[in-house]
Amino acid sequence: MSLRWVYGPVPSRRFGRSLGVSTIPFKTCNYSCVYCQLGRTINMTNRRREFFPKEELLEEIREGVKRAEEGIDYITFVGDGEPTLYTPLEYLIDGVKEAYSFPVSVITNGSLFYSPLVREEVSGADVISPTVDTAVEMTWKKINRPHRDLVFEEVLEGLLSLRDEYSGEIWVEVMLVDGLNDSEEELQALKEYFGLLKPERVYINIPIRPPAESWVRPPSPEALFNAHRLLNGLEITALESGEFVLQGDDPIGGILRILLRHPMREEQIESTLKSWGVEDARAVMEVMKMGGAMVPVEYRGRTYYLPGRVRREKKAMG
Ligand code: SF4
Repeated sequence: MSLRWVYGPVPSRRFGRSLGVSTIPFKTCNYSCVYCQLGRTINMTNRRREFFPKEELLEEIREGVKRAEEGIDYITFVGDGEPTLYTPLEYLIDGVKEAYSFPVSVITNGSLFYSPLVREEVSGADVISPTVDTAVEMTWKKINRPHRDLVFEEVLEGLLSLRDEYSGEIWVEVMLVDGLNDSEEELQALKEYFGLLKPERVYINIPIRPPAESWVRPPSPEALFNAHRLLNGLEITALESGEFVLQGDDPIGGILRILLRHPMREEQIESTLKSWGVEDARAVMEVMKMGGAMVPVEYRGRTYYLPGRVRREKKAMG
């Protein structure tokens, strides 16, 4: 059985060894964040749907858990887009919780919690990790480029309602972008909002992987320090370390499935292939490059690889 929607475990800076479950077609989202590591949003939608059959997805999760052989810290619902756009999310979360003792997390842009139904659907997760980059509407429009049906006040209110109703932990992520949301005023506004939201954790992140827009830059060290001071943030700005795990009997397909969701550094691909048992990993990587299956992107002095089609789309949009 080849896995289409389940990948990893991959090393996650927040969730340790995380078995990823993608419930959404590639780049289907209601945001088009300037820093998105998957490129610009291709399918901008605010319409929730069952994009893939829920029974098949749950079956794949079971298979993914079996193959990972207990090397899992979290089962994480994350997307090739926004996972809460998937309507049977509750079915999957409940299915996982009934079968396993692994904690479940949902990584989300947090935009749909104005809906009581969506809040109900994620209530079985142990951790919800929403992105909140700003408490200023103009900045939200610039940085997250939301679907036109979304209303900023409702998004912020929705998260506060989630806080009131939800018994699990909320780990907020803030992605800081130079010149957009790293000023003193921006951070003060966020601090005020977090005073109401009371997240258990605040993770401060910076664009460490190639972003959708080439002009996106990480904040200065001073701005980053200021954000930590004001928001009492935890650090996830370091590159993740640890092993990626390839599922199945096709190492090249396994690498490409991870790349679709998660750009990898050159040395990560090499060590992952080697740990799978590929002796000449460099030669395999050359073949993948020459065939256009993956393409290198230089970003901040490191070489990352994206799947070929993402690169083509980025160029076409470019
Ligand atoms: S970063 Fe997340 S929310 Fe933003 S465009 Fe990418 S997938 Fe959507």
